[in-house]
Amino acid sequence: MLTDTHCHLYADAFDEDRTEVMQRAVSAGIGRIFLPNVDLESWNKLPDLLSQSTTELSLYSMLGIHPCSVDEGWEVLWHQMKATLGHGPEFEGESIANKDSYNGLNQSARLLNVVGIGEIGIDLYWRQDNIALQQEAFLTQVRESIRLDLPVCIHSRESLDLILDCTKGLPFRGVYHCYGGSLEQAHSIMELGQYMGIGGTVTFKSNQALRDVLKSIGPDRVVMETDAPYLAPVPHRGQRNEPAMMTEVAQCLGDLWGMSAEEAGERCSRNAADLWRIPL
Ligand SMILES: [Zn+2]
Repeated sequence: MLTDTHCHLYADAFDEDRTEVMQRAVSAGIGRIFLPNVDLESWNKLPDLLSQSTTELSLYSMLGIHPCSVDEGWEVLWHQMKATLGHGPEFEGESIANKDSYNGLNQSARLLNVVGIGEIGIDLYWRQDNIALQQEAFLTQVRESIRLDLPVCIHSRESLDLILDCTKGLPFRGVYHCYGGSLEQAHSIMELGQYMGIGGTVTFKSNQALRDVLKSIGPDRVVMETDAPYLAPVPHRGQRNEPAMMTEVAQCLGDLWGMSAEEAGERCSRNAADLWRIPL
């Protein structure tokens, strides 16, 4: 079974044929898809999509604000998300640890099958005008993830060093999605017990450096993802990405690790189950 740990299946790009995309995912062996939220618009689309979760294809969501959606006033949206995550009025003033049935999350979060906070992070590729604000929003969400004991999904475009630096000492669990860093940075992440999300970019001809890193670190801290509709793997590069195409990523990683695509998929699915604490 393959687990797509990062897919924007709610995106407009899938409005015409979402059901077929999900069917193709099942046929390709995908059993689980994780949906990272980005903003208010995507949040509004989650309930409908989550209701289409089946025993063959389980859907999970994460709540958070994407760094490219962080602007003045981001706290208003974040407060709403925090309320959905675990600050329901019925528990006002109570310690979460004392609520056996509460599990840190309230009713609406459980309806959305929320298993993490994301995608959050810092993006210095698209935006450099608001670095301080991005960092503040990111760290606020990371701290909440620690309080709720939920993993985070991190977007670290052109910002990996900054993120590793500004989170020093924060005991969070999480995954660096679309990992593209060095071997040294990978070792730092592994030492912290965190994970790297690998998708279509590992198949790009120009990306031998990433393949070398993955070959060296092995499968222990790797989860697979698509980031669909973006970043389709070779030979579909440039097309709309979808979960079924993740078999190309599994094949590529299997080749690097000297195992079959199936085995690589199982290893990474087990890692995802460990990180998000979902039984396999
Ligand atoms: Zn994404």
